[in-house]
Amino acid sequence: SLEKLSKTDTIHLRKRHVGQACKLFYKHDPLKIVRAERQYMYDENDVQYLDCINNVAHVGHCHPEVVRAACDQLSILNTNNRFLHDNLVICARKLTSILPEPLSVCFLVNSGSEANDLALRLARIHTKHHDVITVDHAYHGHLTSLIDISPYKFNLPGGTGKPSWVHVAPCPDTYRGKYRASDYPPGTDLGAKYADDVRLLIKKAVDSNRTISAFFAESLMSCGGQVILPPNYLRNVYRYVREAGGVCIADEVQVGFGRVGKHWWAFQLQGDDVIPDIVTVGKPMGNGHPVAAVITTRSIANSFQQTGVEYFNTYGGNPVSCAVANAVMDVLEKEHLRDHATQVGNHFFNSLCQLQAKHPLIGDVRGVGLFIGIELVRDREKKIPATEEAEHVVARMREEHILISSDGPDRNVLKLKPPMVFTEQNADLTIKVLDQVLNEIAYLDFNHESSEKRSKADTERPEELSSQIIKT
Ligand code: PMP
Repeated sequence: SLEKLSKTDTIHLRKRHVGQACKLFYKHDPLKIVRAERQYMYDENDVQYLDCINNVAHVGHCHPEVVRAACDQLSILNTNNRFLHDNLVICARKLTSILPEPLSVCFLVNSGSEANDLALRLARIHTKHHDVITVDHAYHGHLTSLIDISPYKFNLPGGTGKPSWVHVAPCPDTYRGKYRASDYPPGTDLGAKYADDVRLLIKKAVDSNRTISAFFAESLMSCGGQVILPPNYLRNVYRYVREAGGVCIADEVQVGFGRVGKHWWAFQLQGDDVIPDIVTVGKPMGNGHPVAAVITTRSIANSFQQTGVEYFNTYGGNPVSCAVANAVMDVLEKEHLRDHATQVGNHFFNSLCQLQAKHPLIGDVRGVGLFIGIELVRDREKKIPATEEAEHVVARMREEHILISSDGPDRNVLKLKPPMVFTEQNADLTIKVLDQVLNEIAYLDFNHESSEKRSKADTERPEELSSQIIKT
């Protein structure tokens, strides 16, 4: 057996000695996973689960080449990067070769949060400005500095609230955001409209004597609800931010490394001319091993150097982590996983659109490559978030051994971001089961009180909620 303890004991010990604030999937009936390979995970009874959510296991769980690279290097040397080592410079050369030209200097760190915290520091040092523009519903990491720029966390009832140096731009969500595609003639440049809000936000801040150091945003909003940025958003925002003396930071921690298929990085979806000043990467970079990086311009790196305060990170860029990252990038290319993500992603997306035609509960399907969101609504007209339904779908899919999750401010967006080795057959199975589960939902009665309240507070829209409740 791969277990050291019975599942009951594992649960017991975790309750007793592990901080209960730590997030656990399926909290009331947690899964115990003891091994995994490719896009499959196995519990203590060797039951197989199809993994539709693990974007960290990017090239597949326990990819043999990645495992070998780690083991080999671990048995030869692992030490900090104050010594020369080939793995570190090879990693930096590779990373910069797959990013646009100006992004030519790397800092290797251990997690997405560390990368984002360093990005913040670089931005402030370089610009000598302080304030940050963040996007509503964004999450950028668990460090104190990042909770401060993560409305996803600071806006929770028990959260710490928005600091005065943070300015929150509306989430450029063209389905349920401030400017909705459904409210404008086709072809309206909603990206420019959302960007204009950022311009006004900057103006307001500057008028009250604040200085903008950075615009911090994911190139696709993940925790925020799988939101695809509308065309022209980043192009315009980057211009406004730079005019105010700030720099532009792209958080590619979740969505980078080819998840979108046709590009290495999601910001490239906005056009070749859209180039951030700082890019942060993590999660998929190590396929589960902790390794992350900040990549920036020579000019920003020089500003940091000129402070005379040396940067040292005990584990950042160690030979083992770099061996892992290098193996991941090699595998991505050798196995043509970006092309694969495009092909499987398109197939998945098209099948989901067919499912949408059949199930009124599916209000929106959006995605690119293997980054897909399915937004569930109780009423397509009013877009009332189907939060309980989404929770139910996640739980039922798990019973059918398919792991998906829900997220977004209303927790009504089903997230699909599987390992890149996910196949069309896996997509077909997921669709088939989702179809069944959505059929069942039509016969269930949900208590909608909580989402009703939320909905009212958020949108001040719903009038006749009771008529929307699905009756048995
Ligand atoms: N940025 C984004 C967009 C993330 O989704 C996350 C993690 N969910 C982080 C940063 C933080 O990364 P880590 O958990 O590796 O610190």
